[in-house]
Amino acid sequence: MGKLVKGYWDCQYCSEKGIDGELRECPGCGKARDESVKFYMKGVTYLSQEEAAKKTGRPDWFCEYCHSYNPDSSDVCVSCGAPRGADNGKNYHEMQQIKAQKEAQKAAERAEAQKAYNGGGKKKMPLFLVILLLVLAGIIIFSVVSCIGKKKDMTVSSISWEKSIEIEKYSYVEQSGWELPPGAELVRTKEEFHHYDTVMTEVLVEKSREVQNGYDVSYEDNGDGTFEEIQTPHYDTEYYEEYETRPVQVPVDETKYYYMAWAWVEDRTETASGNDHNTYWPTLELPEDEREGRKSETYSMVVRDDKSSKETKYELDENTWQSLNPGDGVTIRVKSGNDQLLDANGDIIAELREP
Ligand SMILES: [Zn+2]
Ligand SMILES: [Zn+2]
Repeated sequence: MGKLVKGYWDCQYCSEKGIDGELRECPGCGKARDESVKFYMKGVTYLSQEEAAKKTGRPDWFCEYCHSYNPDSSDVCVSCGAPRGADNGKNYHEMQQIKAQKEAQKAAERAEAQKAYNGGGKKKMPLFLVILLLVLAGIIIFSVVSCIGKKKDMTVSSISWEKSIEIEKYSYVEQSGWELPPGAELVRTKEEFHHYDTVMTEVLVEKSREVQNGYDVSYEDNGDGTFEEIQTPHYDTEYYEEYETRPVQVPVDETKYYYMAWAWVEDRTETASGNDHNTYWPTLELPEDEREGRKSETYSMVVRDDKSSKETKYELDENTWQSLNPGDGVTIRVKSGNDQLLDANGDIIAELREP
């Protein structure tokens, strides 16, 4: 048990204040401590060892018959002689709890009454809230529409195609690499970043630890006119630095070779194109030092919106493109970035790309 500290109380009958916790009766009017009493401290005055030895450490008990507190050491009420028993003798802490509950209930009742008083008139929704809700509804409708897309009737105004072949030329050109191929003509070398090595390195690391620094002191109401001093260890966070071995990524340079050597190099592109359905690859007659590289083909149409007359160019797959002719009516679902060509049932025939 911690050291005992003197408590004090106030008398509600004669307004005598700061009465010594050792006194059961008010020195001003002679009334015994009643349910209004709540002990408090005035600075820290320790009880002498002699005084402390008389204490049981248990709170005073309350006599329901004459409304006064009695020390734990007494089994009959000092004021009226009523015996302490199952139905007589709630302790100081239980009495404080009952007091707190009563006060909380009163506060709740007051709040309820205030609410009933204020709630007389019906509240109107503020105008800005109505506007906000309308704007939100608009945004939701807009995003749903742009997600599902909008069907538009259009007319094909033209079709076109393009087929291209890249031509590569065998050339003597500068290249680079981490090795010099046999037969290559070295131009220069340079140390350049090649990769990272993981190296275990001593690194200064900031750390923290909890260090006990004295005690925090608090006081607990014993309910008998004394308080108990309670000491709990107080901890502070201390920061310090320490070396630790950690993996560190270290850039490693190696020798890079720049050299002249023979290689196939992209030289130019041969293209065939037209505005009909007769597609073909460009005819090539290549000398020995040239060859075909990458091939590419695109199939396009320009459509005109029947309502706005706005024209849009789309690329699409060859099969669908072959079936379309200038003057054809088509239905297109415009869907932010991935428009689609639909058939009469609204099913998707082709995905359309804007070039
Ligand atoms: Zn008094
Ligand atoms: Zn009594």
